[in-house]
Amino acid sequence: MKSVDLLVIGLGPGGASAAGQAAAAGLDVLAVDRRRVLGEPVQCAEFIPTPMSRYARDLPVRRQTITGMTSILPSGQIHHSDFPGLMIDRAEFDRALARRARANGAELWHPARLTALDPLRQQATVRRGGQDLNLRYRALVAADGPQSTVAASLGLPPLRTLRTRQYTVPLHRPLHDTRIWLSDAYPGGYAWLFPKQDVANLGLGLDPELQRDMKRPLEHLHRLLAEQGLVGQTVLQRTGGAIPVGGLRRHLREGSTLFVGDAAGLTHPITGAGIAAAVISGEHAGAAVAAWLAGDGDALADYEEDMRDQFGPALARAVERRQSLQNLWHTPAARLDDTQRRGWIAFDEYYEAATT
Ligand SMILES: Cc1cc2nc3c(=O)[nH]c(=O)nc-3n(C[C@H](O)[C@H](O)[C@H](O)COP(=O)(O)OP(=O)(O)OC[C@H]3O[C@@H](n4cnc5c(N)ncnc54)[C@H](O)[C@@H]3O)c2cc1C
Repeated sequence: MKSVDLLVIGLGPGGASAAGQAAAAGLDVLAVDRRRVLGEPVQCAEFIPTPMSRYARDLPVRRQTITGMTSILPSGQIHHSDFPGLMIDRAEFDRALARRARANGAELWHPARLTALDPLRQQATVRRGGQDLNLRYRALVAADGPQSTVAASLGLPPLRTLRTRQYTVPLHRPLHDTRIWLSDAYPGGYAWLFPKQDVANLGLGLDPELQRDMKRPLEHLHRLLAEQGLVGQTVLQRTGGAIPVGGLRRHLREGSTLFVGDAAGLTHPITGAGIAAAVISGEHAGAAVAAWLAGDGDALADYEEDMRDQFGPALARAVERRQSLQNLWHTPAARLDDTQRRGWIAFDEYYEAATT
């Protein structure tokens, strides 16, 4: 049976960062992903805000800079805010992080899918090339996204998620801001347009408990923007996916297993942004495992504490904001600008105490 220091499940930004960091520290690392081609299909609007864009700086993934955000309220009122960032080629970003992990010495298997876990024996079963392979590990990083197989195998509850649908469409004139629509037509979420040179990612996220039909509202918005001449009618690419919106998992550490990125619930429950948190948590988890295996008995617990310190307050506020709006969707209050302002990061009201 193959035996490794660290087994990483998932080679998105979280897993690739964990594998790269741990391999650089000298660990024997195996990282697996069920995808044949890493990074594809892209399930992302591909935006990273500036404070986090250092993670894309050294990689050949920049597509355009963003200077601001335009938020459109139910009344049609428009609010501009500074919100600088980068649009990236997300597939290339994931692959660049994976290449870096491999260059640091990590072994990468893809496609290879985790099918079973025995945490007591520290063994995993991975299906690769039609065969079930048993692997022994000393530590495990769960970087397998919002519907984590690791979490399910450990008997942990699934994360609360939002559903998304996104079209990539031609963009008819250059834009340097992201556009956000806040409306009762997008209950529990919002609609977005993120410009990427001559195309744009146009999408929406909805709470499936409030509304299941995503196609109609997205096609309606697409048609409207096409009529305005901003975007073309062609749909170049379709994607979607789940976004965790319940905040952090109860525990980010389970024995010798650490959760990172979406699998940890680190995605922002209001904006849905999670690339940077995945990279940061991945790097910390890789370093924590290396320290732990080198004899620092507190390193895994410290990982959890660090992540809670760094991300906990912003995530808790976002969860609270979501909850305060939850019962207002599909009522007249959801059609008021004031209500939507309390639920979106561009407005001062978002950062004030709950009033509902
Ligand atoms: C439509 C959409 C738009 C988004 N837009 C943005 C954005 O603009 N900016 C931003 O910051 N964030 C955005 N996000 C969120 C962002 O994509 C995630 O937060 C980010 O991908 C999290 O990285 P991760 O490494 O934790 O997980 P993932 O990127 O989900 O990677 C998990 C990996 O695990 C693999 N995997 C899963 N199960 C198994 C298994 N059993 N065995 C082996 N491998 C497995 C998967 O194949 C996948 O490659 C968006 C999300 C969606 C759905």
